[in-house]
Amino acid sequence: MNNTSSNRIPHLLGLTVSLSFLVSTLIGFDAHIYADTLQAGVAKINITPEKPVTLAGYGARKGLSQGVHDPLSARVVVWKNQEHRLVLVSTDLIGFYSGSAEILRQAILKECKLKPSELFLSAIHTHSGPNLCIDKDKGHKHNYEYTQILKNKLVQVIRQASENLNPIQIGAGIGYSPVGMNRRQTRNDGFDRDSVGYIRLGRNPYGPADKEVLVLKLAKPDGTTKAVLFDYATHATSLGGKNYIISGDVLGLAEQFVEKILGNDIIVPAFAGASGDIDPWFRVLPKFNDEPGWIPEPVLLGTLLGEEVVHVYRDIKEVAPGGEIHSAFVALELPGKPKSEMSIPKNFPKTSLPITVAKVGNVAFVGLGAEVLTEIGMAIKKASPFEHTFIITHCNGAAGYLPPAKYYKEGGYEIRSSPFAPQAADLVIKQVLKMLHQL
Ligand SMILES: [Zn+2]
Repeated sequence: MNNTSSNRIPHLLGLTVSLSFLVSTLIGFDAHIYADTLQAGVAKINITPEKPVTLAGYGARKGLSQGVHDPLSARVVVWKNQEHRLVLVSTDLIGFYSGSAEILRQAILKECKLKPSELFLSAIHTHSGPNLCIDKDKGHKHNYEYTQILKNKLVQVIRQASENLNPIQIGAGIGYSPVGMNRRQTRNDGFDRDSVGYIRLGRNPYGPADKEVLVLKLAKPDGTTKAVLFDYATHATSLGGKNYIISGDVLGLAEQFVEKILGNDIIVPAFAGASGDIDPWFRVLPKFNDEPGWIPEPVLLGTLLGEEVVHVYRDIKEVAPGGEIHSAFVALELPGKPKSEMSIPKNFPKTSLPITVAKVGNVAFVGLGAEVLTEIGMAIKKASPFEHTFIITHCNGAAGYLPPAKYYKEGGYEIRSSPFAPQAADLVIKQVLKMLHQL
């Protein structure tokens, strides 16, 4: 039997070689190359509400929006290499709260025939965009209608991007921006409790903040740029709960600025890095200041960030074929905590966190369905086995704040409202790194 097999192998190998030579000769050189080449398609769709809607992010804000300062968009990059696909979606929204993540994801996965790990549905966390509402009885009817329209538009824009695939080369660069700043301010006045200090939302210029601006250029083989992706860690909250005008805030305005400067239909999707404890330098302002000569703060900060994105983009001299795509998804069950409380009853139920990881060549994407504090994103980036790692929060879910264990002693807004117990953050970091290594 052994003899027979070994006699047949050379013959079979010979046949395989000549067949593949024949096929590539017949179907032509280009098809042969494209078969295992990274391709990408991009598309953008306007998702600005057409009717007045309730705005998300500040519980005390009631009433409907009163106008639009700048348009909201959904921007999509579809990657493909052989049978592997990856769909990155950046929306100018707060995130997928009130059960909307599952509804939107299920619709997209079904209509676009994707596996759960192939979809990163993310939001830039603007607090001047609509509340999503999937239950007619639990929100304003305009918000319910908006969410239905959004679902169709997301499917439509992903299909559109899937239909304009080209061979693509990628190049990455890193810059820094002072726009985002740690917001866990210690008050040592009358609010001091237990001599630990009282943490309130404010400015903490000396606290940790991930200032990195990670930029990824997607270019066709002829050198034409199709898209510029960027990742930066800040809340999009330069506007506060007194503002009733729709805007993408800092991150949305940065996207629009870069698209305007670069022109040529280049799309510029932003991703919110780990920014649970990071606010823009000018924060929660009541409105776009229209004083003559004044540059409204969200525009100023969005432009400052956008200019850095352009600087980094223009410095990316080398692009290279992107390589393989792989992805993985897990809904990780983590030790939970009651929201708005600091103590954890015995046998308290676990909190689920959707984690999605993917690679395109030597670039990794880490999607986390929560508001992740900046230290956690920095820890993942530092230990990542990839040359560049995008941390994408508000992605595929909206579990709430995920703080590092060390902050549970000092408390503060993010810790009190978190649905996670102190040990959750370390488990997440370990899980993400394990998944990155397995890609
Ligand atoms: Zn937030």
